[in-house]
Amino acid sequence: MLFDGHAHIDSEEFKGRVEDVVNECNVIVFNASVDFNSSIKTLELASRIDNLFPALGFHPEFVEKSDEVPKVLDLLDFALEVSEVGLDYYWIKDRNLMMKEIKILRNFLEQAEKRNLPVVLHSRGGNRDLLDLLPSYKVRFAIHAFEGSTKHARAFVDLGGYISVPPILVRDKVRAEAVKAVDLAYLLTETDSPFMGSEKGEINRPCNVIKAIQKIAEIKGMKTEDVEAEIEKNAKRFLGVSDWFELREKKREKIENYLYTRRSD
Ligand SMILES: [Zn+2]
Repeated sequence: MLFDGHAHIDSEEFKGRVEDVVNECNVIVFNASVDFNSSIKTLELASRIDNLFPALGFHPEFVEKSDEVPKVLDLLDFALEVSEVGLDYYWIKDRNLMMKEIKILRNFLEQAEKRNLPVVLHSRGGNRDLLDLLPSYKVRFAIHAFEGSTKHARAFVDLGGYISVPPILVRDKVRAEAVKAVDLAYLLTETDSPFMGSEKGEINRPCNVIKAIQKIAEIKGMKTEDVEAEIEKNAKRFLGVSDWFELREKKREKIENYLYTRRSD
């Protein structure tokens, strides 16, 4: 089974063909929401697509509409992963907004710890602050589409974190260095669909996660199927389940609760 730990299948790019895109191959897909509306969409997709699982969060790029944050936090009861959350200092340069990003992230980390949910973190320019923040929380975490030095990659792994690798790896020498520096036991795969494709301008899809696996295999000097099996093991450990059946059962329960709560509103 392939593992796409972070994608945005609720994007416009996939309108009307979400099922086809997810069911094109055998892949577990975590759809990461970015605000309140996409959190609702994510839960709706998860309720009807077997291999799609809900990751709920509030993207740091949207810090200016942070009044939505409490509503997203309220939905975490129905999530299997917290994402997309994190720090973005690439698009957000305003000092006050940067501080606000940290405050919001702390809220999500607190809730993740309380609910024992794994967290998939966005970091653009925020690696140093994340390395300062994370030791205060007892959470399983992964850095989504990690970009940065091998030093930072190793530092995240030293904290018990995972490095999540998208297909763009095939054309990114800096990411290749990080993959080389990190033990396979701490790598996960993702697509960040529709972004981060192996080719420029391509609409990325969950099944392309195989391209990340092939490139990891090349870097590590291993067989593709062995890397695929190891990543699958890592993903189960990260998610805290012993098999995919258990994950599906957890999802069924959460979605049932969600639909029940919505009905009684
Ligand atoms: Zn993303």
